[in-house]
Amino acid sequence: MSDSEKFPIDVFPEAEEMDLRPGADSCYKCSTCDTSCPVAEVDDDFPGPKFQGPEQWRLKRKDDVSVDESVMKCSNCMRCDGACPSEVPLSQMHNTARGEYVTEEMSMLSREYWRNRILANYGTLARVGSKVPRLTNFVMGNSVVQQLNEKFLGITAEREFPEFATETFVDWFEERGGAKIQSDEKRVAYFHGDYANYNTPEVAKALVRVFEHYGYEVAVPDQRCSGTPMFANGMLDDARRAAKFNVETFHDLVSAGYDIVCSCTSCSMALRQEYPELFSFEGTAEVAAHTYEALEYLRIYEDVEGDLKGSKPDFPDLAYHAPCHARNQGLDGQAVNLFADLDGVSVTDVGDSCSGISGTYGWKEENYDTSMKIGEEMFEHMDDAPGETGLTECPTCAMQMGHGSGYEIRHPLEVVESALVE
Ligand code: SF4
Ligand code: SF4
Repeated sequence: MSDSEKFPIDVFPEAEEMDLRPGADSCYKCSTCDTSCPVAEVDDDFPGPKFQGPEQWRLKRKDDVSVDESVMKCSNCMRCDGACPSEVPLSQMHNTARGEYVTEEMSMLSREYWRNRILANYGTLARVGSKVPRLTNFVMGNSVVQQLNEKFLGITAEREFPEFATETFVDWFEERGGAKIQSDEKRVAYFHGDYANYNTPEVAKALVRVFEHYGYEVAVPDQRCSGTPMFANGMLDDARRAAKFNVETFHDLVSAGYDIVCSCTSCSMALRQEYPELFSFEGTAEVAAHTYEALEYLRIYEDVEGDLKGSKPDFPDLAYHAPCHARNQGLDGQAVNLFADLDGVSVTDVGDSCSGISGTYGWKEENYDTSMKIGEEMFEHMDDAPGETGLTECPTCAMQMGHGSGYEIRHPLEVVESALVE
């Protein structure tokens, strides 16, 4: 695909300079960001995005004060970014402040540090746990283990630990002999992330089959976590290592004519927005400009909308939740529009509230109640929608939807696969 055909999202153009003063100065204190913050809405102790961003930045410049610990209560949903009329780079400020807080204020001997580090590095745990998936699922599903996790690590015992698949996506892909289609013209490199690899390979397989249906060669390179849980926990050194590896790998593929597609909207958000905001490795901007959410890509380059009209996927009625990170990329209406004319399947948008889990936020013992309070509106709308199956692009929103409703949760790519691929 030539560059002139692309429609990259507009991420903060001055961000590479890592100088956030212009952003802080352009805040005119309207408080719109505060009214958009789902955590501030239910947690009276959380001072909100205006304080976390421009106000802390001003205080730090003036009085050389340290970062306030309340920044660790920000769930990194990034809703405030989209709400600000003055384009203040709020989440970039939060990510930077969180990194500073963890480095300078948080004891490396504290339970909070180790709990956050473990949650932020889920991929490392998953790599080990998925070697013996049945045993890991048995152990992690045990209520005594869950109670111990809560007591000693502060990981809530209220949630069901996600099960590991008995075969990872990468093993499946290698086993089938890699890409089934070779093409010099239509090439995508798949950023699957950890969750689709270890926990929901059916989503990743659906992506491969759908893109091959449209004649694409799909590359599945070695990769690290996108860094999303690391940003959210202020583990910027871990995030930097992961991002460097990913940028180097995917930049080589972009140079060879591949575009990058993601099945998780937080992964596409990280590659498109957080990497250029926080890092300046060679190739970061090119990787960001060539990254797409998978269905967004097919909407741009193929007539997936036309192909889906009147098709009959083998699915029940669906209650769709748009993840916050999909909203930030302008993708919140996408699935509902794409699936509006399916034969025999209704898709209901369950509203614009946050699901409340925000990655690792809702897994922390102290945040569990807040997380469920934020999710209440979504649960009620799911209950009102026809059917008992949920639909979303984000793996942790899917966990929260399933946890709060008891529904099975599917991914839009699975619907497309069922509708179009024989
Ligand atoms: S929405 Fe933007 S301009 Fe308004 S208070 Fe928040 S950061 Fe400042
Ligand atoms: S990222 Fe989300 S939780 Fe954090 S301050 Fe912004 S709106 Fe609130």
